[in-house]
Amino acid sequence: MTYSIVRIYVYYATLSDMNSDILSIQEEIFKLIGNQKRLEILLLLENRELNVGEMTDMLGLRQANLSQHLTLLRAQHLVEVRKKGRESFYTLSDDSIAVAIRTIHDFLRKTHRIDAPFDSNSLFPIVTDPVCGMRFSASKAFSHIDKNGKLYHFCASGCESAFKASVKLTNEEHFAQTVHA
Ligand SMILES: [Zn+2]
Repeated sequence: MTYSIVRIYVYYATLSDMNSDILSIQEEIFKLIGNQKRLEILLLLENRELNVGEMTDMLGLRQANLSQHLTLLRAQHLVEVRKKGRESFYTLSDDSIAVAIRTIHDFLRKTHRIDAPFDSNSLFPIVTDPVCGMRFSASKAFSHIDKNGKLYHFCASGCESAFKASVKLTNEEHFAQTVHA
């Protein structure tokens, strides 16, 4: 009787130490990811591998700034890097961290009564050229036209002219056209 109580106590104490170890690691991880850009990086890398250039475009970050975030995430083993020549490609060490972030995201939508479902593309808009159907990050578009409040993005192969020839734009819409350098 006494023996089994001791045994149960030892078992309980071990379990409780383990829990407190994990909670202390969790505290560190939560501090690390308690940063909007780092949350975005982790969501961006869910189920895909991206190089530094792609990430700077999609996140609108300078490369030095992105590198700082990636170094911190790597130190906690949340992301992994693969070098190929001079390029570095990043992936999540385990996709479940992105799943956990989306779960908290969904919880917040519920508690803040935001109805729209979570859409990771809205963070890093991938747009489709309406003429040729090419898909690219909005920040990579060669040019865009704002028509009736809707943005149309175009590649560098002249699709903007084809689009303009096929629709009638008002003067105001012509004015809203932007060509990226
Ligand atoms: Zn095009």
